[in-house]
Amino acid sequence: MILPKFDYNAPATLDEACQMMANYGDRAKLLAGGTDLLIALKKKAVTPTQVVALDRVDEILGFCADEEGTYLGSRTTAAEIATADLGPAGQVLSQAAAQVGSPLIRNLATIGGNLVTAMPAADMAPPLLALQASVVLQRIGDQRELLLSDFFVSPGEQVMLPEEIMSMIVLPRLPEGCGGAFEKLGVRKALERSIVSVAAVISLADDGRTIKGARIALGAVAPTPMLAHDAAASLYDRKATPKNFAAAAKIAAREARPRGLRTSAVYSRLMVEQLTIRALTRAYEAANL
Ligand SMILES: Cc1cc2nc3c(=O)[nH]c(=O)nc-3n(C[C@H](O)[C@H](O)[C@H](O)COP(=O)(O)OP(=O)(O)OC[C@H]3O[C@@H](n4cnc5c(N)ncnc54)[C@H](O)[C@@H]3O)c2cc1C
Repeated sequence: MILPKFDYNAPATLDEACQMMANYGDRAKLLAGGTDLLIALKKKAVTPTQVVALDRVDEILGFCADEEGTYLGSRTTAAEIATADLGPAGQVLSQAAAQVGSPLIRNLATIGGNLVTAMPAADMAPPLLALQASVVLQRIGDQRELLLSDFFVSPGEQVMLPEEIMSMIVLPRLPEGCGGAFEKLGVRKALERSIVSVAAVISLADDGRTIKGARIALGAVAPTPMLAHDAAASLYDRKATPKNFAAAAKIAAREARPRGLRTSAVYSRLMVEQLTIRALTRAYEAANL
């Protein structure tokens, strides 16, 4: 792969990386796993004069949890997340991470890069939306945390400033009785970006059957990963039955805004409906484990 010329910077700390990004501004690009950036460089879709590599910045690697939630460093790879025990609700994220590209891609692809690229089909975005995740954005002397639902703007575009670095993804602790599941449709089993993906998280009352809360997120069927708010709201205080799941799935299909690029809009909506039924059913099973 022949790449255009740029200076390669290898900061050892997050502070150092922030300082470099402050100095270089929009002349620089951050490099994490490189699975998206190297292709963009080769195609000259981006032409930075400076590349700031994050592979020595260990502060943003790995994850931990406390009573308030789970904290994932933005450099954590899809492979690490795929094998992590994130609990019955958090498994929606590990299931998605396990379906990113091939084993080789998963070993390189980071969760931060997956979000920052802001592709409608980014597989880790719908589970994170369903889990009410927020992202921490860092720059010299400043840090802001915002909900992932406020992060995406349009295909390939999000709200970050050129000098900001995503340092962490925060998953709030969910109550007992929550379960999650991810469903993806691609053309082939491996190495395939989603045609449609659905992530569902539901929370059950003590009876194990009444739904106290639900979040349904859709990938690749709108200009950005999106929450199907009406579909989720339709389940509130309802029993977790196939009939109610099917009704919610129909609403989710109506809420989708497919662009008809890789498949017809009609097909995308049909797939949203089917995958939502499956995701809700499996999320319910997980909540009852
Ligand atoms: C063959 C192939 C198959 C793929 N299959 C899938 C798939 O099935 N599902 C899927 O979702 N994706 C897929 N992808 C896309 C890609 O692997 C993911 O989007 C990946 O998670 C990107 O992460 P990265 O670490 O490689 O990012 P990089 O390529 O290093 O960076 C991507 C962008 O994010 C920016 N960036 C990275 N980290 C940060 C940070 N911490 N703060 C601020 N900006 C940052 C970079 O500057 C760059 O603009 C595939 C890619 C390939 C090449």
